[in-house]
Amino acid sequence: MSAARRPLKSLGQNFLVDGNVIARIIQAADIQPDQPVLEIGPGRGALTGHLAGRAGRMILIEFDHALAAWHQDQLKDNQRVKVIDADVLKVDLAEIFSETPRKWNVVANLPYNISTEVLFRLYDVHDKLARMTLMLQKEVGDRLAAPPDCSAYGVTTVLLGLWFDISRVFVVHPGSFHPSPKVDSVVLNFIPLSEPRADVGDENVFRSVVKSAFSMRRKTLANCLKSAEFSKQVDCGELLETCRIDGRRRGETLSLEEFAALSRLLTQYLRKVAT
Ligand code: SAM
Repeated sequence: MSAARRPLKSLGQNFLVDGNVIARIIQAADIQPDQPVLEIGPGRGALTGHLAGRAGRMILIEFDHALAAWHQDQLKDNQRVKVIDADVLKVDLAEIFSETPRKWNVVANLPYNISTEVLFRLYDVHDKLARMTLMLQKEVGDRLAAPPDCSAYGVTTVLLGLWFDISRVFVVHPGSFHPSPKVDSVVLNFIPLSEPRADVGDENVFRSVVKSAFSMRRKTLANCLKSAEFSKQVDCGELLETCRIDGRRRGETLSLEEFAALSRLLTQYLRKVAT
């Protein structure tokens, strides 16, 4: 059976083999009756059957062609399940989610090598989500809960913090997987907020401000913003001054509210330039 082939390191294949951990993830996912569910990277199906038994519509995205084909075969009689044999970073999640007006649960034991990238993609479709229950490398999970001015605080902390309440469900030790990873993992619940935590103006602007502020962690905020695309159109010194933010600070010291203030004002400046 293809699902029994050796795990591929290149695809971050650390399969869950601990029934207790699997049960706790399913409980944390709290699938409601008829809830549409997306599972990213179902692998050998440790979570899939439990989810499919509870979900309404269910979509699986698996990049390992052999495993995708295996799921297709296993689930061929279940009309509610669709298997997408693809790289989750290349599919259009907004289009997938648009097949029903209901909000989706996303459940995944994410491949570690792409977990941050996947978080950014899920952030982009936050308005389509009811809940996410994700297993991440513990270090990546810790970043999401980090306060300003510590090395763990970064782009994912600020962006996801704008739209989600994030809570740690439990830590998972390497022995719960085959093969065992070298580090601990953590299961987190992400509950989307109905309103963002702060008014940021244009969200694309917010994303650029945050990404540029963290682009060179050793440089000052003023220098980081100067090298951003938007600095060709606006005076970043004036922007910082008007927001009463000292440009000699480093990006990682700014709170979400300070990023929001910068983004709101920059949105206004850019709209003015565009008219
Ligand atoms: N859900 C299974 C479990 O808990 O045992 C497998 C989890 S394993 C950590 C990650 C899974 O994601 C693997 O099945 C792997 O093939 C798949 N994967 C890796 N990269 C992917 C990508 N870019 N798009 C979709 N799936 C991917």
